[in-house]
Amino acid sequence: MGFLSRTKDKEKEEDAIEPAPCPHTALVQRWDLPEDMGNKEKATYVCDACGGRFNYEQAREFMERPSLPIS
Ligand SMILES: [Zn+2]
Repeated sequence: MGFLSRTKDKEKEEDAIEPAPCPHTALVQRWDLPEDMGNKEKATYVCDACGGRFNYEQAREFMERPSLPIS
């Protein structure tokens, strides 16, 4: 019964392709626990564009970082 471990290796090669870096500016707040709702520091931030999940500190960086230079 050792054949199951072998099939995993084949699918590793394709995960390095990333077309463009996502700025993660379309973040949606989610809470796992109802008692945490409304507490932005305990929220999980899910990027609507790429599906990435971030904590509060990471999300704050993405939102504060200007995506376009102001001239
Ligand atoms: Zn993103």
